[in-house]
Amino acid sequence: MSVQDYIDKIMKSTIQSTPGQTEFYQAVEEVLITLEPLLKAEPKYDEYNILERIVIPERQIIFRVVWMDDAGKIQTNIGYRVQFNSAIGPYKGGLRFHPSVNLGIIKFLGFEQIFKNSLTGLPIGGAKGGSNFDPKGKSDAEVMRFCQAFMTELSKHIGETRDVPAGDIGVGGREIGYMFGQYKRLSGKFEGILTGKGVNWGGSLTRTEATGFGSVYFAENILNKQGDSLKGKIATVSGSGNVAIYTIQKLYDMEAKPVTCSDSRGMIYDENGIDLDTLKLIKEVHRNSLEEYAKIHPESTYIPTHKYPENTNAVWSVPCDIAFPSATQNELNLNDIKNLHKNGCILVCEGANMPSTPEAIEYILENNILYGPAKAANAGGVATSQLEMSQNASMQKWSFAEVDSKLRTIMKSIFDLSYETSKEFDDEGNLMMGANIAGFRKVADSMIDQGAV
Ligand code: GLU
Repeated sequence: MSVQDYIDKIMKSTIQSTPGQTEFYQAVEEVLITLEPLLKAEPKYDEYNILERIVIPERQIIFRVVWMDDAGKIQTNIGYRVQFNSAIGPYKGGLRFHPSVNLGIIKFLGFEQIFKNSLTGLPIGGAKGGSNFDPKGKSDAEVMRFCQAFMTELSKHIGETRDVPAGDIGVGGREIGYMFGQYKRLSGKFEGILTGKGVNWGGSLTRTEATGFGSVYFAENILNKQGDSLKGKIATVSGSGNVAIYTIQKLYDMEAKPVTCSDSRGMIYDENGIDLDTLKLIKEVHRNSLEEYAKIHPESTYIPTHKYPENTNAVWSVPCDIAFPSATQNELNLNDIKNLHKNGCILVCEGANMPSTPEAIEYILENNILYGPAKAANAGGVATSQLEMSQNASMQKWSFAEVDSKLRTIMKSIFDLSYETSKEFDDEGNLMMGANIAGFRKVADSMIDQGAV
């Protein structure tokens, strides 16, 4: 069977056996297509049935989460944990609380996590979980009761050397705290079963900042390779969560100017550069909409989502040198990348998971726009989670500067590995291919070593 037929066969059986999981198919297809040169060079992956195995999670846990709201009414949500692959280490990956969450979304995230985690060079397997619960608009007490109910079931499936969840969209320090407290209450043990913990109780310094910082370090590596740097560059950033906020902060450190941010209700364009303190106040303290930013900074422009031109994201219509999609999946489509290109954007660096549609990626590659693919560019978050696990296991606490410097080194090594791998397969600079092949190869070889499991 030709490699193309092998890939087609896997895609077909995936679609047949997991109906309706569109985001998952998208993630699988992107990886399989880029593996083509490796599969041609190495028939062993076909021989050992690696593709057949790697697209099926080792275990999927789906559970009911029942909690009581402030009015005394019983509410019901669905909880998920997909333990995708443990070939190179215990399962590791975040939890997402968002109304859009379903099994297909958790599976796409878990699948990507396998290769991302492998790329970090650290011993962590891939997993993802979450719920269709929406923390937005809920009181702290409601979020706490939900988190406690969620952890009551999840606690049966995780452990320091088994599966270590963390945050993702809708899960930050507050949620991790409530879940950690509940785990401790149930087990009677103070264990590092979650990362992203508070710095007073086992968390690592720099973990909050890590995904955003890492994404900017990755962009700097790409530019350095071209003899360029971030200094003086105008950047557009989408999102206003953890990833976006610390991308903006690090861009200032590197003397670049971030001019946009966004949330589900709209976007801000501030020509003078986004005011980081205002952004943090609105999002981290008030948990409010970005509309508040325009009130504090009347010189900025606020565009509500319903006023975006059809089928475009207004963030990507703002002229920039570099775009940092840092919100969510499929937030940058073909229209958006055409707008960016027309306005002179030279690099797209992905802080979110799978933010560019397949058509947008094709356009990026065809038009030689520099590209930092998500699995490589946003791996700094999970890498720093592993540093948190290391500190927990050895009962140590490293300084902010120490963790930040390790993060920077890890991002450089991810870039170097992706770049070198792209060269090895005669497509120098195609970091998407390089990252996917490098991430896959380590996991696949480990699966072969471990036999029929
Ligand atoms: N949710 C983050 C990611 O997409 C972090 C996961 C973790 O720290 O385990 O990689």
